[in-house]
Amino acid sequence: MAIDSDVLVIGGGIAGISSALAARQAGADVRLVSEAETTLHHASGLLDVLGYHPNAAGEGPVVDPFDAIADLPDSHPYAIVGESAVRDGLALLDDALGEAYQGSYTDANALVPTHGGTVKPTARYPASVAAGLASDDREMVLVDFERLTGFDAGVAADHLAAAGIPADTSAATVEFPIVVRDDAKVTRYAHLLDENPTVTVEGRERRVRAALADAIEPHVGDAERVGFPAVLGVDHPAEIRAELQDRLDAAIFEVPMGPPSVPGLRLEDRLYAALDDAGGRIEAGGGPIVGFDATEGTISEVYLDRSGSPIPYAADQYVLATGDVAGGGIDSDREGVTEPIFGCHVPHPTDRYEWFDEAAFGDHDFAEFGVVIDEMLRPVAETGDPEFSNLRAAGAVIGGYDYPAEKSASGVSIATGYAAGRQAAREA
Ligand SMILES: Cc1cc2nc3c(=O)[nH]c(=O)nc-3n(C[C@H](O)[C@H](O)[C@H](O)COP(=O)(O)OP(=O)(O)OC[C@H]3O[C@@H](n4cnc5c(N)ncnc54)[C@H](O)[C@@H]3O)c2cc1C
Repeated sequence: MAIDSDVLVIGGGIAGISSALAARQAGADVRLVSEAETTLHHASGLLDVLGYHPNAAGEGPVVDPFDAIADLPDSHPYAIVGESAVRDGLALLDDALGEAYQGSYTDANALVPTHGGTVKPTARYPASVAAGLASDDREMVLVDFERLTGFDAGVAADHLAAAGIPADTSAATVEFPIVVRDDAKVTRYAHLLDENPTVTVEGRERRVRAALADAIEPHVGDAERVGFPAVLGVDHPAEIRAELQDRLDAAIFEVPMGPPSVPGLRLEDRLYAALDDAGGRIEAGGGPIVGFDATEGTISEVYLDRSGSPIPYAADQYVLATGDVAGGGIDSDREGVTEPIFGCHVPHPTDRYEWFDEAAFGDHDFAEFGVVIDEMLRPVAETGDPEFSNLRAAGAVIGGYDYPAEKSASGVSIATGYAAGRQAAREA
């Protein structure tokens, strides 16, 4: 007997979660299955809608993504789902994330400093990042820790100054109060700050957060803001920031870093909790969906591979949210580029040398590989007809846009996830 639901979402990244939340909101019985733990804990935690216009190479960041959406080509996922799905999808996520995220008060992009000292245009950002915005002219000091890799405060401060941000920026390196192994994961620092154990520093017993503030205090000077690597707790980030703010008498912010990412972990926790609260059923890490049965263009069942045993899952409607090559939703080899579960059509040049540009930052075809969708978000065959009547796609498995270049990854995942989830629920 197959495990049943109205809507089955395949993929546990931001597109899959947005689809499942939207389908639940529309009243469907929803199940989300995902092969691996999600990719969210690698992500920066920033939710970009559109940072750069795809047709305006070399131009600066987009000020208002909603103004720019109207100029996108018809094949772009935003053009297919329409501006209202982008807004409604973001509103759904705003509800799920509550006070942990900011940016919803304006359509304009915020400018967030990153660990490399670049400034990233983004639509929503963790509350922990808010005091660090590059548009703020308050003096700041960036802090890194002796053994922590992945964030060099001096380099970031130099780059931010060179980028011309309006704030004076300096940097300091301090010893973290507990000696952490050279190759420790960022989560080790975050858990120590969550747990706040007692340490002995120069013969004096101090809690870790207090000892860290003591080490930083001499470097603060007149700065009104102190920026930390994004390791300020997984479970109690607001409490940790508040304590450091009191002790240092300065606003505290985190600078997003590369993977694995503590803000990404928090985002994952919040979104999965929101889906659970909404009554969605979640099965992550149980194995991949590897096959399906279909009759006359309608999928009847899919099969999850649990340690070699195929487990059938049946639904009225399916959402494919398996990501691109990084997520496992698109595959490529010498023969070509494929969508591995349903074999949906993925347009690509037959000559593999045309997949990429010789310049590293050139116009690479492979960045846009993915399924082509119709206005109902159904993947279509080469003929333009839907591959299946009850399959929709959401997120990075959809092709036709270059999200790393235009900085639109989460926005497209949220908007197409929202639209696919709503439509699937309506037809279930
Ligand atoms: C390092 C990194 C940094 C990022 N930084 C940003 C950023 O700064 N701003 C921003 O907006 N976005 C960022 N993103 C992108 C964002 O988090 C999403 O990855 C992107 O929007 C695509 O989401 P998705 O849900 O479509 O796919 P993915 O996130 O790739 O999720 C696909 C899911 O499908 C599952 N899956 C794949 N195949 C199967 C199968 N056969 N059966 C079952 N499950 C399957 C995978 O396990 C995965 O959980 C970043 C991502 C990464 C990895």
